[in-house]
Amino acid sequence: MGQVTDETIPAGIEPSAVEDVISTGFPLLNFPEQIETAFEQEGAYDRCRQLIFTGLFGVLLYDLFLLSDWLISPETFATAVWVRLGIVTPLALLLIVSVHFNPPTAIRESLVVVGGVVLGAGSILYLMLISDDGQHSAQHQSILLIVLFIVMVQRVRFWWAIAACLACFAIHAFGLASIPSHSVEFQISTNSVFGCAIILTLFASYVLERETRMNYLLSLRGRFQRRDLDLKSRRDPLTGLRNRRSLDEAIEACDHAGSGIEELAVILIDIDHFKPFNDTAGHQAGDVCLKRVAGIVQGELRDYSDDVFRFGGEEFIVVLRGLSMPTAVRIAERIRRAVQDAAIPHPALAPGEVVTVSLGVASAVLNREVRVGLVISSADSALYSAKRNGRNQVAPRIPVGGIIEVADRRMRFGS
Ligand code: GH3
Ligand code: MG
Ligand code: MG
Repeated sequence: MGQVTDETIPAGIEPSAVEDVISTGFPLLNFPEQIETAFEQEGAYDRCRQLIFTGLFGVLLYDLFLLSDWLISPETFATAVWVRLGIVTPLALLLIVSVHFNPPTAIRESLVVVGGVVLGAGSILYLMLISDDGQHSAQHQSILLIVLFIVMVQRVRFWWAIAACLACFAIHAFGLASIPSHSVEFQISTNSVFGCAIILTLFASYVLERETRMNYLLSLRGRFQRRDLDLKSRRDPLTGLRNRRSLDEAIEACDHAGSGIEELAVILIDIDHFKPFNDTAGHQAGDVCLKRVAGIVQGELRDYSDDVFRFGGEEFIVVLRGLSMPTAVRIAERIRRAVQDAAIPHPALAPGEVVTVSLGVASAVLNREVRVGLVISSADSALYSAKRNGRNQVAPRIPVGGIIEVADRRMRFGS
């Protein structure tokens, strides 16, 4: 049995499906298939533990009734010992052990019913029938305890509770009818009380299961909300790209994983002459331009779209794990051309001039000395070169240290 953490979102369940069930209700105590499966799977661990502990508790209580057997009917006490300790207890323990193996829901709940009805109520009926002592018939009352135990303590699912209650009622009625000293009036009256107790118990069972199910739906809703908030907190609201916080996490993850085997490429992208763009066309037009460029960069990186971050102002960064320098340079060149081909007019430059970007690329095999931060600063100084050399171009830079050889070799032989 494995425990599911509170924040796990079960696969295949959409938030809208959960909201639908919450608003339409579930009078028959069942969910659409995928939610039902998740509900059962996530609750299975706790449900089995609950059944095991309450089951052991129930067996103990059941055996304590030997005291009552001895007081009420000493002549059948030996049989009672044999029935309770020799047959029912070992079989009940067997059922408890089988629940430990987390059987499917239907089997698990059926085992609860069988354990309570056949072993519990059935054995009480047997002890009633073998006793010719009228007093022993008082034991029929303890069948009600069996009902309470199955429905309220073990909290068998509502539909199984109905089956268990009907079976216990039948056993109760049969037991009463089998004792000649009981008049029909007495039987009717006692069965009515028993029947009412069962109805009240079933009512409680329905309400309890409904609450359990509703709590599950609310926990799913909470998990979806927290996931959305979490995603939002990692996105830049203007461009929709991942933000600096998300980048820091990605860097940490790379540094953590990169122990001498992982190659990492970084592309730093900066819009050329963006300040004059803003100064001439206004901040809002600048925002529109930023969004367009972000979209173009992401479009060129469809396969790596989750690796693009807004680095700051009008700068973007692409962190590509497992890519060598030549590949990263090719990608950077593709981005540069795509931005230029988008032909976004630059209001502060000469007529016909368009918005362009400069790109710095760096790549390295990470190890203890060469961290992601070093690769980023190398890309940054490459970007500076690109700006200095006239903008609208890609500049590669190999970080200093032992990795120079690796990257340099690849550059020269294009592997
Ligand atoms: P260079 O070609 O050297 O990169 O020149 P530049 O003008 O692009 O560089 P600089 O760093 O001087 O200017 C960056 C500008 O980006 C400054 C700021 O007005 C603008 N900017 C930063 N963030 C935003 C934003 O969120 N929206 C808008 N509209 N503009 C921004
Ligand atoms: Mg800049
Ligand atoms: Mg700029």
